[in-house]
Amino acid sequence: MHLSGATDIIFGVGVALMGFAVGSFLNVVIYRLPREGLSIWQPRRSFCPACRNQIPWHDNIPFLSYLFLRGRCRFCGTPISARYPLVELLSAILAFSLYRKYGITWELLFYWYFVCALTAIAFIDSELMVIPDLLVLPTYILGFVIAVVTPNPELTGTLVWAALDRAGWNPRLISLAGSVMGFALGFLSLFLASKAYKLWRGKDGLGAGDPPLLGLIGIFLGWRSIFPILFLSSVIGLLSVMLSLAAGKLPSRGDLGGVRLPFGPFLVLAALFWLFYGEPIIGWYASLLTVQ
Ligand SMILES: [Zn+2]
Repeated sequence: MHLSGATDIIFGVGVALMGFAVGSFLNVVIYRLPREGLSIWQPRRSFCPACRNQIPWHDNIPFLSYLFLRGRCRFCGTPISARYPLVELLSAILAFSLYRKYGITWELLFYWYFVCALTAIAFIDSELMVIPDLLVLPTYILGFVIAVVTPNPELTGTLVWAALDRAGWNPRLISLAGSVMGFALGFLSLFLASKAYKLWRGKDGLGAGDPPLLGLIGIFLGWRSIFPILFLSSVIGLLSVMLSLAAGKLPSRGDLGGVRLPFGPFLVLAALFWLFYGEPIIGWYASLLTVQ
């Protein structure tokens, strides 16, 4: 219908523009949250980390200001990290993709919060090798809430869903069970892997924040996502190590054992991929199995 087509475009553009604004706020979270003594809400206005000058509103327009200022602070000329426009653009793309997947629904809102938390986690972990609890623990609760509010067969898969349905379970309870299974499988697989590594090598091979992060991903994406995401994130991680080695950014091979790499950003990349392409892949795989 003509009207709904036009409305669809207006909503899509609106959500993408909000995505830019949300990305601007994410930059504040990424910079301030892991740093002692900086509050998210105070000061209200952003400042240049180099000269501490307040940034005027017209230099603080998401993405565009970076281009107009050619990536430098207006006052002191210090280069502005390319992370700022990157996060803003990424945030807009993710928001638009979520709108395409969910439309205007509760799921759009909750999964939007989820991908924002993932984005902040990825950038904080890649810079400082920490994953703040504040980004993980409250998001757990939102994940369980949306599983109950909007029963979601993606969380369990059709086979488990049908089995529990036959057993007389309420759809909301089945959906919540899928989330809980996702948390348990995600958390335990990395927790046990890190314990095993510690027994074997006598030192930590994973950050303490990685098992809770994969648990969070399992809550929103369901238990079936865990092993594909583990596989995909390992491949992305390995590729990026090889690219860094080729670019001479890491010490030579022999020293690699002493270098710690944040695993969080790779888990996040794989999870975002699975959020948008997981169901089509499972559908394709199932069609391969059922073809005579
Ligand atoms: Zn400055």
